[in-house]
Amino acid sequence: PGRKAGPELAYRGPADHKGATDPTLLRMRILITGGAGFLGSHLCERLLNEGHEIICLDNFFTGRKANIAPLLGNPSFELVRHDVIDPFKFEVDRIYNLACPASPPHYQYNPIKTTKTSVMGAINCLGLAKRVKARVFQASTSEVYGDPEVHPQPESYRGCVNPIGIRSCYDEGKRCAETLFFDYHREHHLEIRVVRIFNTYGPRMLPDDGRVVSNFIVQALKGEDLTVYGDGTQTRSFCYVDDLIEGFVRLMEHPTLTGPVNIGNPGEFTMLELAEKVLQKVGGKSKLTFHPLPGDDPLQRQPDITLAKSELGWQPTVDLDEGLDRTIPYFAQLLGK
Ligand code: NAD
Ligand code: UDP
Repeated sequence: PGRKAGPELAYRGPADHKGATDPTLLRMRILITGGAGFLGSHLCERLLNEGHEIICLDNFFTGRKANIAPLLGNPSFELVRHDVIDPFKFEVDRIYNLACPASPPHYQYNPIKTTKTSVMGAINCLGLAKRVKARVFQASTSEVYGDPEVHPQPESYRGCVNPIGIRSCYDEGKRCAETLFFDYHREHHLEIRVVRIFNTYGPRMLPDDGRVVSNFIVQALKGEDLTVYGDGTQTRSFCYVDDLIEGFVRLMEHPTLTGPVNIGNPGEFTMLELAEKVLQKVGGKSKLTFHPLPGDDPLQRQPDITLAKSELGWQPTVDLDEGLDRTIPYFAQLLGK
């Protein structure tokens, strides 16, 4: 670890990053599991642009080659088709563990595999980090709070998760991954970073991903009715992808903070408000149709980002209106609209 590079490759972390990056780590070799997915591909691009060497590991369950196609010609970018459930070995300085389907229809498609991906994926990343002394980052989730009774949710809130419901494979898998991260930290002194991601959207989401932002935009663009689950009064807080990735890098390069740290946009909206916004922006004749609320669907969700603000100097810069304005053209182009 700690490979030095020529000055043209010097690490250029966020200029106002509070915990300055270690100056000896100019150019790092970074493993990103789930790197061909929505968030992973944005992270690969960001870190390549900063002059790092990237190993992107993905089994292409929900990831796509198209997401990383523009990076394939870059000599600093390597793609490995592999499943995080099976052990892997790379000489790396940093590991970002993002491999896991994130959308409810995808993670419920094969729930046992989802739990294995979170738990065995974490064990394999931690084992590698221990062996090569890499710093390791876990993409955790606001789902660890379940259907929260505390609102907004600070990191100290322990959550209200159903251990046997249809979302449990994801929620409990992610909770167990957090446990493993902190046990490796306590027992083996690993440098860990744990982020709790709140609903994030933006270009490169799959059009059939099943999450609400992509569903509503795709439906509106196709002139289909928008599928509101339940009465649409449940809330979520939506973060634009670029803001989230900035938070990731700040946390990873913080000299000491392990987290967990909430990263998300505190702007909270009901699904009805989101549907209205999308309809107003896309236009057309779509109406709202109401469908049963899926089991264990949380009623409300909003991050308390006090910790990210004070320790990382991070807060979101793109509000929902602007984020939708940046995301709708991506889906329009994809659908040829
Ligand atoms: P995504 O589905 O687009 O990306 C997940 C990636 O992991 C895909 O490329 C997929 O092919 C890969 N993958 C899945 N199982 C794998 C396995 N067993 N081995 C190797 N690769 C595997 O989802 P995303 O939105 O980019 O989410 C990335 C990470 O962030 C996930 O861990 C997710 O749980 C977490 N997260 C995302 C959000 C969000 O709103 N986007 C919110 C909370 C947490
Ligand atoms: N949702 C909806 N219509 C859809 C997809 C989702 O009303 O077509 C609702 C869903 O029931 C949930 C919210 O939107 O209350 C966010 O769902 P998503 O799957 O995007 O994220 P998560 O539930 O994991 O936060």
